[in-house]
Amino acid sequence: MAQVHQFDAIVVGAGGAGLMAALYASRGIKTAVISKLYPTRSHTGTAQGGIGAALGNLEPDSWEWHAFDTVKGSDYLGDQNAAKVLATEAIDAVIELELMGLPFDRTEEGRISQRRFGGHTNNETKQPVRRACHSADRTGHMILQTLYQNCIKENVTFFDEFHVVDLIMNGDRPAGVVAVEIDSGELHVFQAKAITFATGGWGRIWQTTSNAHTLTGDATAIWLRRGLPLEDLEFFQFHPTGLYPIGVLITEGVRGEGGVLINDRGERFMERYAPTIKDLASRDVVSRAIYLEIRDGRGIKGKDYVHLDVRPETVNRYLAEAGEERRLTAEDVINKLPDILDFTKTYAGVDPVKQPIPIQPTAHYAMGGIPTNLNAEVIRDGSETVIPGLYAAGEVACVSVHGANRLGTNSLTDLVVFGRRAGQQMLDYCKNADFVALPDNPTAEVEAELDRIRNASGSVRGIEIRKKMRKVMMDHVGVFRTEDGIQKALDTIRQLQDDFRNNLSIDDHGYRYNSDMLEAWELGALLDTAEATALAALERKESRGAHSREDFPKRDDENYLAHTMIYSEAGKLAVRFDRPVDLSLGYEPKERVY
Ligand SMILES: Cc1cc2nc3c(=O)[nH]c(=O)nc-3n(C[C@H](O)[C@H](O)[C@H](O)COP(=O)(O)OP(=O)(O)OC[C@H]3O[C@@H](n4cnc5c(N)ncnc54)[C@H](O)[C@@H]3O)c2cc1C
Repeated sequence: MAQVHQFDAIVVGAGGAGLMAALYASRGIKTAVISKLYPTRSHTGTAQGGIGAALGNLEPDSWEWHAFDTVKGSDYLGDQNAAKVLATEAIDAVIELELMGLPFDRTEEGRISQRRFGGHTNNETKQPVRRACHSADRTGHMILQTLYQNCIKENVTFFDEFHVVDLIMNGDRPAGVVAVEIDSGELHVFQAKAITFATGGWGRIWQTTSNAHTLTGDATAIWLRRGLPLEDLEFFQFHPTGLYPIGVLITEGVRGEGGVLINDRGERFMERYAPTIKDLASRDVVSRAIYLEIRDGRGIKGKDYVHLDVRPETVNRYLAEAGEERRLTAEDVINKLPDILDFTKTYAGVDPVKQPIPIQPTAHYAMGGIPTNLNAEVIRDGSETVIPGLYAAGEVACVSVHGANRLGTNSLTDLVVFGRRAGQQMLDYCKNADFVALPDNPTAEVEAELDRIRNASGSVRGIEIRKKMRKVMMDHVGVFRTEDGIQKALDTIRQLQDDFRNNLSIDDHGYRYNSDMLEAWELGALLDTAEATALAALERKESRGAHSREDFPKRDDENYLAHTMIYSEAGKLAVRFDRPVDLSLGYEPKERVY
């Protein structure tokens, strides 16, 4: 029998979103965080460049500009009411982090320092604006440590290294979750009145990715298995600058400091694609430009990469050309981008002060996910029907603030703004809510699946399935897509799902620390999330933001200015465009010019 725990509120995931939710809930109710990783190992800790908020510390800025840039960056698919919440609440959320003790970099006057990032502009001059608040190139690390310390102070209970494998529903109400205690392999049931999922992204579906090994779409797969819908999965962001060839992220902050992209002919090619803000255009635009340069034979030495050049002499030449007074020194690069120096030296043997950095686009961020409303409440259809007691926040959630393309620094903002809302909502909800009864034997279904995996004795190893999935998704559901390609990916994924179910082989048949079994379970989650992603990509016959269909190269607002809802009905997936986009700030969709 599984051990049963009871808390008012449970948060699954200990990244920035989960910890912010837990912090707020814990101020009034008994709260626990369940995390498959030790909390400070969550992916939030790798975020480098900054957190966006219109503080206007170095030059004029306003929440209205931040909201507009977010909507424009989203290729008009982002909900405008969500962009307003993000941009207005970002300002005091960043100050709140500062008051909690987060060591931001400072201006000479002692204010929080800010830098430029892609797509963030002064709406009057159209020039890049300094909006990203930063702590060197370790901003996420500082956020995670600060929030974790504050959670400890508030006596949040942590279940570290507990892997959640199921959501327990009783009818249409959430009753709790099931988790594997990784150390013992035993199942635990957590019963709660309110549950927030904050499990992060799923970049491990693709071959080249900036995402940690643990970002495997566990929650999205659980959603589909429980017959709950997902939203906008086809919008997965490829960050332009992954270190070639492994995909480790090189922050946009490098370009924020003045770095430029250069092709084999030595051209600063972004001048052709985005004449006004060039290298700081939105990520979808820059990633496509790099792909096109490579495809036209202008990759460095004809290979699949271009250069990111942040050598002071190069940067200063372009700054002088642009009539800017600012100059970059070697010390600036060393002090403001210390981790980048470390990564490029360690993984590519390149010193960015003296040599250009080889880069290629890398799968980075899920714009889509679990559909929620502005209060982080999970919804079950396109008519905004709320599932009481169930919440989602952070990268796994789709509010939708990022629409078809997220701007840099807006994810960290999203975590604290909507994580905080999730925590506040759980607190309010639990005041009047009762526990939902656990159904009989709530672990039976998932226990059977875990036993099947643990005892699997087929002929195909998980690693082979994983490699094939990652390659086919990279080749056909990556930066550019076509109907034939996506269909090929979908067929392959379904074949791999079949192998996973019927022909898997596992070496470790034990219980304690059985990472073989848990990684296979994660592979099943990746495959299900990949299938839903490919299907959504197939059905959206237009190009918008990160979803670029070569067979439908134009954005089609007449037919597709709507969110994609992916329903799981009797084990089959169905796609409907039945969640309208909120246009309440009055920004009519326009062609995006950068
Ligand atoms: C290299 C890199 C750099 C980035 N830089 C920036 C930046 O500068 N600015 C910016 O705004 N954004 C940046 N991003 C994006 C941003 O960091 C992420 O979107 C964000 O941190 C996600 O936070 P989260 O709280 O949603 O989830 P995460 O931080 O990913 O945490 C997920 C949590 O869920 C837990 N979990 C997952 N599955 C389970 C399960 N089955 N059971 C139990 N626990 C589970 C994990 O243990 C973990 O604690 C970057 C991303 C990467 C990869």
